[in-house]
Amino acid sequence: MESNKRCILIICDSLRRDLINEATAPTLARLAAKGHWYANVRGVFPSTTRTSSSSIATGCLPARHGLLGNTMLLEEPGGLRCHSVGDPAFRERLRALTGRTLHVPTLAEHVSAHGGACIMSNVSAGAAYFHDPDGHGEVYHRAGSYGPGGVPYTGARGLEIASGAQGDAAMTERFCARLQAPDAPAVATLWLSEPDHTGHAHALGSPAHLAAIGHADACVARVLRTVAALREAGQDTLVMVGSDHGMETVVGEIDVGQNLVAAGLKAAAGSRDVVVAPNGSACIVGVSAAARDRVPALLEHLARQPWCGAVFHGEALSNLGLPAGTITCTIAVAMRHADDANAHGVRGSTWIATDPAEGKSYDGHGQHGGLGGFEQSPFLIVEGGGYADGRIHPHPVSLIDYAPTMLRHLGLPHGDMDGTPLPLPAEAA
Ligand SMILES: [Zn+2]
Repeated sequence: MESNKRCILIICDSLRRDLINEATAPTLARLAAKGHWYANVRGVFPSTTRTSSSSIATGCLPARHGLLGNTMLLEEPGGLRCHSVGDPAFRERLRALTGRTLHVPTLAEHVSAHGGACIMSNVSAGAAYFHDPDGHGEVYHRAGSYGPGGVPYTGARGLEIASGAQGDAAMTERFCARLQAPDAPAVATLWLSEPDHTGHAHALGSPAHLAAIGHADACVARVLRTVAALREAGQDTLVMVGSDHGMETVVGEIDVGQNLVAAGLKAAAGSRDVVVAPNGSACIVGVSAAARDRVPALLEHLARQPWCGAVFHGEALSNLGLPAGTITCTIAVAMRHADDANAHGVRGSTWIATDPAEGKSYDGHGQHGGLGGFEQSPFLIVEGGGYADGRIHPHPVSLIDYAPTMLRHLGLPHGDMDGTPLPLPAEAA
């Protein structure tokens, strides 16, 4: 007999735990009171969407899955080069250069023979595609939607929406229809662009940002109504609603590559000897074999910069969940952050590494990527599947625990993922 178990994951991109309350997000507040609230969720590093998407999908840290940022360095025939993972073409570039995409299986692969998976995403193409890069399930995104085996979904089967609240609402309608279809997948993920989309362009806590949180909350409410109907019909649905990371207010911006050129530690802006992958409030520095003797000077220089919060190299990279001893991730920098509040009373400020390829300022607006306390404060609510009665969990959990938790609900093994299933209430007592 076919299983009645289903998992639904909703990500409200960038929504910080401390910004959720009855006034800003009434649906989430009520859901937390009904299900389980995780008061100590951590993101991964870098705390960027594409890395987080890969970690949620694989249940593994970046060191294992290999997707190291919103931008990442690849070793090409001409030397190190920084790529935007957001580019729809990046996945094929990565495959062509390295022979693979993510280094470990995704949730979509784990459930491909057990009801299948579907993601609808309104963030970047990279974040959508790296949730299921090898076409095991359905991926819906405005840059191109695909079914299992990479079969393109064209015309009305595609997802012609724009980033922001309106697109999120349209996508949520499509998502609810997919949940109610006779062939609905065992694992369905809805990745909303808000409040990330608005948070990057407005002050955190501003009326626009609070409205964006409200829009995301309304999308969650829409899905919960569908879930209620499906449960009425006998479905055993585990609902996980959370975010991938938080945001902090940008108080300073620096082109780290240019800074290294001025310090004599990099040959030129476009040189391949020492290359920076900017990731918001973090950056990763790759050092080619020919420039390896510059590493001590680079570490010393970076640590002295007023915009630098912490520098990681060697074993310290492993402790952060990054690969160690590679030329594409030789040094990682978490930018300097502080706990002070902005004009709207929202705490947490940070420096960011600007992306010269993007040419955009985030001054005074929200950004993420680093290790600041607020950007590392995503939220998580789990409801259904045994999670009830409004419990609060103080122990640390991570994005990498989401996939194993869903697999356990479906009665499937989670293999050798880095994460572990969240304890069931009976186990946690
Ligand atoms: Zn994000």
